Amino acid sequence: MTDPIDRSGLAPRFWETKRLKDMSGAEWEALCDGCGKCCLNKLEDEDTGEVALTRVACRLFDDSTCRCSMYETRHSYVPECIVLTPKTISDHAYWLPQTCAYRLLWEGRDLYDWHPLISGTPDSVHRAGVSIQGGTVSEAAIAEDDWEDHIIEEPV
Ligand code: SF4
Ligand code: SF4
Repeated sequence: MTDPIDRSGLAPRFWETKRLKDMSGAEWEALCDGCGKCCLNKLEDEDTGEVALTRVACRLFDDSTCRCSMYETRHSYVPECIVLTPKTISDHAYWLPQTCAYRLLWEGRDLYDWHPLISGTPDSVHRAGVSIQGGTVSEAAIAEDDWEDHIIEEPV
């Protein structure tokens, strides 16, 4: 599988020496492992703050490639899709997937060996069983009131 993210020309293991806020745009983008889990709808309990993951994916999510089908122009269709940056990650870390590279590094942890930056291939995230490729249903097909019937455990 061709990696849709350009991870070429980056310093080896730059994430171990650079702080998130000091990373270049290319380094920041390269941190995404392509797991797709941030494109799943979550249900948040207003009282406890607990976040439940569902297998109901954003309408722009392509279940076969495990990617956004219109990443560059997505905000024209899904204006609420967040833009994760070093400045906004503190607001979002609590709901990001446990294995998300941005969350791991923000929490001072290391990346897993299956991360494409370490394995050299985007396929490793799927082989490791931590992505949601082939495991979603589109929000276009499921009424929001029924999302709670599709709660899943995060694949980790
Ligand atoms: S959860 Fe994190 S690593 Fe996975 S696709 Fe989303 S931004 Fe990328
Ligand atoms: S718009 Fe694209 S990147 Fe944003 S949640 Fe939907 S599928 Fe994911």
